[in-house]
Amino acid sequence: LLSLRGVRKSFGTGAALNVVLDGVDLDVEQGSCVVVVGSSGSGKSTLLRVVDLLEDVDDGQVLLDGEDVADPWVDADAVRARLAMVFQQYNLFPHLRVLDNVTLAPRVVHGRRRAEAEDAAMAVLERVGLADVARAYPDQLSGGQQQRAAIARALVNGPELLLLDEVTSALDPELVGEVLDLLLSLRADGVAGGPTTMLVATHEMGFAREVADEVVFLHAGRVHERGTPGQVLDDPQRERTRDFLRRLR
Ligand code: ATP
Ligand code: MG
Repeated sequence: LLSLRGVRKSFGTGAALNVVLDGVDLDVEQGSCVVVVGSSGSGKSTLLRVVDLLEDVDDGQVLLDGEDVADPWVDADAVRARLAMVFQQYNLFPHLRVLDNVTLAPRVVHGRRRAEAEDAAMAVLERVGLADVARAYPDQLSGGQQQRAAIARALVNGPELLLLDEVTSALDPELVGEVLDLLLSLRADGVAGGPTTMLVATHEMGFAREVADEVVFLHAGRVHERGTPGQVLDDPQRERTRDFLRRLR
């Protein structure tokens, strides 16, 4: 579904040049889950933002079903309609009820009628266990519920690829579990049948272990090591990967 080839991205110029992605190759097959791990500042968020076309690349290709969507001539809105991103901060609109947060994009971007959009929204809210708070405002919900609402909003248009950036790191520890459980169940069953394809950045190695088909360790702007969770997390082959995992303990 998604392939990155030699993706380069830097910020700043001259002495302040910061090369964040220095030739990243990555593949996400349909129905699979790839988890990106690495130290703070290693470029995980930048990588997801490049895929969601929130950042231009300096070089390389971002191939969606073989089409290079990093090409400036591509219709970025059409590409983004196939993707959905969830951030660390839930970014719900505080003045809108949960249901209206979820129906906003279907109604405004996709021009769906209110009743139809609300039916679709209620179905995903049901799926994430929030049907009973659909008419509440975000600040009446717990952090875990808010993040599940943000995930519902991402899912409502049936994205082909879900991009998740540290979706549990702003949560109190006791709320992390409910969000991880939801993602695990989406991983297994998706919304309308098949598994949800995911590209995830996380600090939660436990989650990476449970959910990932492939774990990718990003270091110095490159994929330093990749493999199954068992390979990368339990039996890392490279010193940097071992260092990184040791520091997490
Ligand atoms: P974390 O684990 O803390 O979320 P990360 O792996 O997601 O870190 P990024 O947020 O991708 O890392 O940042 C990688 C580097 O790119 C950092 O050095 C950061 O300062 C820099 N960077 C990211 N976005 C910008 C920007 N818009 N302008 C300038 N520098 C940026
Ligand atoms: Mg980040």
